[in-house]
Amino acid sequence: MNILVIGGAGYIGSHMVRQLDRAGHNVVILDNLSTGFSEAVTAGQLIVGDMQDRALVQRILGDHQIESVMHFAACALVGESVIEPAKYYQNNVLATLELLEAMRYCSVKKIVFSSTCATYGQPQIVPITENEKQEPVNPYGFTKLVIERALEDYSLAYGLNFAALRYFNAAGASPEGDIGEDHQPESHLIPIVLQVALGQRENITIFGDDWETPDGTCVRDYIHVDDLCTAHLLALERLETGDNLKLNLGTGNGYSVRQIIESCREVTDCDIAEVVGERRPGDPPKLIADPSLANNSLDWAPKYQSPKAIIETAWAWHKTHPNGYESDSK
Ligand code: UDP
Repeated sequence: MNILVIGGAGYIGSHMVRQLDRAGHNVVILDNLSTGFSEAVTAGQLIVGDMQDRALVQRILGDHQIESVMHFAACALVGESVIEPAKYYQNNVLATLELLEAMRYCSVKKIVFSSTCATYGQPQIVPITENEKQEPVNPYGFTKLVIERALEDYSLAYGLNFAALRYFNAAGASPEGDIGEDHQPESHLIPIVLQVALGQRENITIFGDDWETPDGTCVRDYIHVDDLCTAHLLALERLETGDNLKLNLGTGNGYSVRQIIESCREVTDCDIAEVVGERRPGDPPKLIADPSLANNSLDWAPKYQSPKAIIETAWAWHKTHPNGYESDSK
């Protein structure tokens, strides 16, 4: 299949590009490299440009006879979205609406969309099923929810066929160790803890230890990036049947910030100093997936079942790329 991967030079997108290529698909990547890296693109054809450039997107859809779009390009930081909501409405909502219009114009009818567990806000029942009310507590979650609704409306009105995949916490790196997570500046838990292990930071600040959770720190469901991508591949195949999908992608197991730091100590065999700071605005205390629907409907199960197994892959990447992709260009 001819597939356009938007944001394919980013963290999750670059792992997806590799899997699509290995599955025999023709991949075209559109990325503005605002947060992505050309070095992360290991297959397909990279076009550097902006998804808000409707003429460019329409040209790509037509020239490459694109049959499906996978859309990873988004701003995805909860804390930043609270401080800078305009950036989120612009990049996550307006840009995606432009994409949907380009697809409509070119009669491209299939899209896999990166949604998020942040659309659930503070869920009443955890583990979270897809039936949980979607009441986001931060702009990031809300902008993703807006697009989920747009996809439903486009589906009804224009016959768009979509998968909205609600990620829990993507983590880890390719087992080959050549592509991985590189955010500038880094804000995600596991990379930051590993930067402490590498001596690049003095300590990890735990964002609050007075939450209503077993050890007082926030609980999240960490899922390996390759497991996420495998689910995307299966979802793409399922779109062929004409079904729309809204699925949680997580392991079903939650780990606290303290448990993650402890696993990082085990994997790295390093002392990792921690300090307790303020709660981060927009953070819900506990997000764990009930992934049964994805397990059953996609016949999918994550291969990486423990934080340790996930962190080992992340550590292999960070150790060999202490400055991220910058280390590659030296
Ligand atoms: N976190 C933390 N210190 C940090 C970064 C993150 O305590 O320096 C916590 C954060 O509050 C959340 C969890 O770690 O509970 C995962 O945060 P991350 O930013 O990695 O992902 P998010 O859950 O925001 O998608």
